[in-house]
Amino acid sequence: MTPPIARFRAGLTEILCLTDGQLDLGTGVFPEADPERVAAVLPEGLKPEVNVHLLRHADGTLDLVDTGCGPTIYAGAGGRLPGLLDGLGIAPAEIDRVIFTHLHGDHAAGALHPDGSPVFPAARLVMHAAEQAFWQGREDTAGGRLLAACSDQVEVVGDGDTLGQGMTTWHLPGHTPGHMGLRFDGGLVLLGDVIHCPELQFPDPDIHTRYDIDPAQGDASRRMALATIAAEGLVFSASHLTGAQKFLRLEVAGDGYRSVAP
Ligand SMILES: [Zn+2]
Repeated sequence: MTPPIARFRAGLTEILCLTDGQLDLGTGVFPEADPERVAAVLPEGLKPEVNVHLLRHADGTLDLVDTGCGPTIYAGAGGRLPGLLDGLGIAPAEIDRVIFTHLHGDHAAGALHPDGSPVFPAARLVMHAAEQAFWQGREDTAGGRLLAACSDQVEVVGDGDTLGQGMTTWHLPGHTPGHMGLRFDGGLVLLGDVIHCPELQFPDPDIHTRYDIDPAQGDASRRMALATIAAEGLVFSASHLTGAQKFLRLEVAGDGYRSVAP
């Protein structure tokens, strides 16, 4: 049975967390963490869900935050997004914007069909300027392919830019140079890939994955983001939160944090 879609309302926007699939990344994702601790928390390795957030605004416009894996990468472990949108009565051509946290394949490959044509032909593709600059011309990557195929749809932003609908960009670099989250006036933040494993990284925010391009910068972004969420009492969601709870709050616990239901 398909699990129910987790929803949260921030101001005039309803945010739905759509799970595009689930990856099996195996062991070794956290190379510098204590191996016994990692094995205790993740005995079978990291198996993160891939979440896409659908934003339904009060004026009827629709944004997506990321696009999931699409059907071709990760051996078909993802690619459920189009079916989930269809189940909500939404055609891909109705999506007004796709706001990318970053352009790794599990976030960007779902924006192209296997033949290289755009899945969301009417959408503006919003991303941080540093993300576009990093992947431009690298057509051996999902991000590079997307930029080459959809250059006329791309719109770049900086840190703290307003996107309308009570949303502001939040540059959280390190995982990739232009990795960004989103802040909503209604007390919600979307964190992208600041977190891959809450059980490890909330107690110790300096634990990072081998996927971070600049791990030290990523650690600094994670510490800053988690401190902000806890201090301001914000609700957050993230691209790889796995299981039923997709919207959470944070409490300070020792040198780190623990998540609590909103
Ligand atoms: Zn990811």
